[in-house]
Parts: sequence; C-alpha cells; structure tokens
Amino acid sequence: MSRGFDVVVIGAGPAGYVAAIRAAQHGKSVACIDEWKNKDGNNAFGGTCLNAGCIPSKALLESSELFHRARHEFKKHGIKTGDVELDLVAMQKRRASIVRQLTGGIAGLLKANKIEGLVGHGKLLAGKQVEFTSVAGTVEVIDAGNVILASGSAPIEIGIAAFDDDKIVDSWGALEFDAVPKRLGVVGAGVIGLELGSVWSRLGAEVTVLEAMDDFLFMADRDVAKVAAKEFKQQGLDIKLGAKVSSAKAGKNSVAVSYDDKDGVQSIEVDKLVVAVGRRPHTDNLLADDAGIQLDDRGFIIVDDECRTRVKGVYAVGDCVRGPMLAHKGSEEGVMVADLIAGEIAEVNYDVIPSVIYTAPEIAWVGKTEAEVKESDRAYKTGSFPFAASGRAKAMEQTSGMVKIISSQDDDEILGVHIVGPMAGELIAEAVLAMEFSASTEDIQRTIHAHPSLAEAMHEASLAVDNKALNFPNKP
Ligand code: FAD
Ligand code: AMP
Repeated sequence: MSRGFDVVVIGAGPAGYVAAIRAAQHGKSVACIDEWKNKDGNNAFGGTCLNAGCIPSKALLESSELFHRARHEFKKHGIKTGDVELDLVAMQKRRASIVRQLTGGIAGLLKANKIEGLVGHGKLLAGKQVEFTSVAGTVEVIDAGNVILASGSAPIEIGIAAFDDDKIVDSWGALEFDAVPKRLGVVGAGVIGLELGSVWSRLGAEVTVLEAMDDFLFMADRDVAKVAAKEFKQQGLDIKLGAKVSSAKAGKNSVAVSYDDKDGVQSIEVDKLVVAVGRRPHTDNLLADDAGIQLDDRGFIIVDDECRTRVKGVYAVGDCVRGPMLAHKGSEEGVMVADLIAGEIAEVNYDVIPSVIYTAPEIAWVGKTEAEVKESDRAYKTGSFPFAASGRAKAMEQTSGMVKIISSQDDDEILGVHIVGPMAGELIAEAVLAMEFSASTEDIQRTIHAHPSLAEAMHEASLAVDNKALNFPNKP
C-alpha cells in the first residue's frame, strides 16, 4: 500500500521548506522531498539559497569587506595593524561552516515540525501522485492531498561560454575558488555578477565585468545606479557596458574572451571567467507528461496570483514561477499556499517586495523607480538625503550614497524608496513596512527615529520630499 500525506512539497529551498513548515503548523501531514547534493557529495536541505546562493555569498561578502577595510580604512580610525594577510583557506572554511550549520538547521526544523524529509528526486504524476526516487535508487509512489512544486532555478548556461567547472564557472563555482584569480572576468553586471565581482576584487583580483546592456543596473532608480557606478569604479571594478560577450575559450592557463562593443570586436584574457547571465526555472524531470501542468515559453510553471497551477490541488512557488527570483518572495508564496490549503485567506503583495544588492555600498529599493512613476503619469514629488550629512554614517566612515523617496503629489502615498549606502538592506525594511501599511510620507516625517542612526537618513529624506529637511539644504 502506498504512503499518503496531506501535503507533499517537492524542493526544500526557501520556498519549499517554508511551505512545508507552515503546512505542518496547520496540522497537516507533510513530506518534503529534496535532491540537492553539495560539491563534497553530501545531500543538504536549503536549496540554492542556503547552499550556493544568498548565504555563502553573504558570508564571503562580509569576510572580503572586513579584509578590504582592515587594509584600507583602519588607518583612518587610528588603528595600526602591520601587514594584513589573507588566509583564503580559513575564509572558505568559515563560509562552508555557516552553510553546514544553517542547512543542518533546516533538517532540524523539518524534524521538529514532524515533517518527513525525503532525500531524493520527486516527480509529479497524474492524479496528485508523486513518484519519489531515493538516493539509494528505490522508487515509491506517494499519494498527496495537495502538491507544492518548489523546484527552484539553475544558472543559465550560454553556448559561447560553456561551463567547464574549472576556468569557466557559474556563480556556485565562483563561491568556491580555492585561490584568488589574478584576473577575473564576469559576464553580466546583474546582482549576482556584481556581488561576486566585489568579493574577488576586494580579495585582490583584477576584475572586469562585461555587460551587454548600455544602462548600468537598468532595474534600479537612475540616481542610485549613478552613485553605484561611480563607487564601483573607484573600488577598481572595471565595468564595461554595451559589451556583449561573443565567445570564451579556455586554454591551459587562461580564458580568451571576445566581446562586441560600439567600437567592434574586443578581447581580454582572464584566469577565470564567471558566467552570471541570469537563472532559468529548474523543472528537469519534474513533471510526468500526463501531470497536466503547463509551462510558459521561458519554462516557468504557469500559476495564477495565488500560485495555483491548472491542476486542482497542485501549486507552484518560488523561482520556478513568474516574479523576481528572490528567496523572500518564494518563502512568502510558500506561506500563502500553505495557508490557502488550510482554508485561510492569504495573499502576497507583489508590489512591495524589497530588492537588495549586497555590494559596498549596499543598494536596496522597494516600489517604483522615478522613471516608472513618470511613465505612469501620476504627479509625484521626491526627496533625498545624502549619507554624507549623517552623523552615524560619518562615524562609520561610510558616507557614500543617499536615501531617495518618491511620493504621490495628490495624496502623499509613498510610491518608491531607493537607497544606496551603508546597511541599505536593513534600512529598506522601514520603507517596506510603511508601504505595506499604505503610509504617507508624512507618517514617516512624524515617526521618531533614534539619533544618531542611519535610519535618520530615511526620516530626513521624507522631510526633504516636502522641502522640510532639517540637516541638509532643501531644494531651492
Ligand atoms: P531553490 O533555492 O533553488 O531550491 C529548490 C530546491 O529544489 C533545490 O534544493 C533543488 O535541489 C530541489 N529540487 C528541484 N527539483 C527537484 C526534484 N524534482 N526533486 C527533488 N528536489 C528537487 N536571493 C535573495 O533573496 N537574496 C540574496 O541575497 C540572494 N543571493 C543569491 C546569490 C547567488 C549567488 C544566487 C545564485 C542566488 C541568490 N539569490 C538571492 C536567489 C535565491 O537563491 C533564490 O531566489 C532562492 O533560492 C529560490 O528559492 P526556491 O526555494 O524557489 O528554489
Ligand atoms: P541578472 O539577470 O540580474 O542575473 O543579470 C544578468 C545580466 O547578464 C543582464 O544584465 C544581461 O544583460 C547580461 N548578459 C546576458 N548575456 C550577456 C552576454 N553575452 N554578454 C554580456 N552580458 C550579458
């Protein structure tokens, strides 16, 4: 007789494991299937985010930033260190240990919530059945009351620069280098390309980023992108815009990269090349032909606003469906679906999802850019406050960047908040909460912010929207 669960989740990344936990909190019997295998050969829960994405990249960003500051900033604080040396082996051990602790934590959470964690491959069959193939090769068909597909995404591979897992690598490979490449090439100046480029540049690599588009950070507000471009240039990141990579050939010791720009065909030679041109939905061998699930032309599982597929009782969440490929977006979809299965009313507010780029300075935003607001024809007002005028930022020696708020002219609703500067990824939470509660700019103006804090920049930017900033000259 086959086993049955109220809910079977395929994928234990931030979308899947969170959905499983919430479903268990509702008293459902739950199984969560995952096949992730790390480079050491061990299986682990947590998906891309914990094993090869958000967490290991932030571990290395933190370590490399400290290394950079110790070498270049401590002197300004009056701290003498002698030579600061890099111990990459120790740095990589720390990264791996953080990943191990957190993925082990997910296994613990599944157990604590009485979720059956199944290690192996899951495939949706017709009639809400799931075929589970364990790592040992045994095959079992499980009956599911509901199925949540959370199979995530994988790096896009381009034929002209195919991965060889040595000199031409994806983002995961670039997180696990065991030596600092002297010359590093990065294809794609998106979030992942910039974060990885920053890590290795701070650790001593000469980094060239090749980006096909003419606009830098096209998805960000133009004022923020301008500050970021200037800062990255000063830090030594060589970002070439309008540079479309046309071929990459790995030789014995290096990679020859060709790209087209406005002046014709150019070439550079690097020791390692990271291809970070985006990610594709991962649905390999996930769906039986008669499972009834539809994919769109880019391979995403088609769902409605509540993450329902066209098969009743089968949902899909996270990177394998439309919307930004962000861990917190997937987790919130997981919660929504589990709540819906339990008969509750639930929704995800797709208009208020924060985006963060963890470079130095950090970049974060929520809501619309000024260009998007302009296009919507809504009358608007803006206010900015530079971190150069913030006492806390000065004390931190991190004065680049600003907070910019865009609000509607008629009813003062906050339409977008854009930050480039220290701790932008933390500061944006206030803006997200404000927008979630449909706050006006005046609500932030009348909220008391601690002094001295970086959050005061948010307060002052809200005042600047109405030409009432106190610690910086207002617009004439
Ligand atoms: P995933 O995390 O990809 O998990 C899917 C899981 O399902 C995997 O474990 C996979 O093995 C498993 N699986 C797939 N198919 C099957 C199957 N048939 N059977 C069994 N198991 C299966 N996002 C942020 O929000 N913040 C960041 O700072 C950030 N940094 C990133 C840095 C890098 C370098 C990368 C690559 C990504 C980063 N992301 C970040 C994106 C983030 O990792 C993803 O948005 C997130 O992991 C998506 O979650 P998910 O659960 O949908 O999928
Ligand atoms: P993201 O989707 O945010 O990870 O960003 C990927 C980036 O890679 C985008 O900005 C693309 O324009 C860029 N890109 C894609 N293909 C190429 C290419 N052949 N050469 C240079 N940049 C590319």
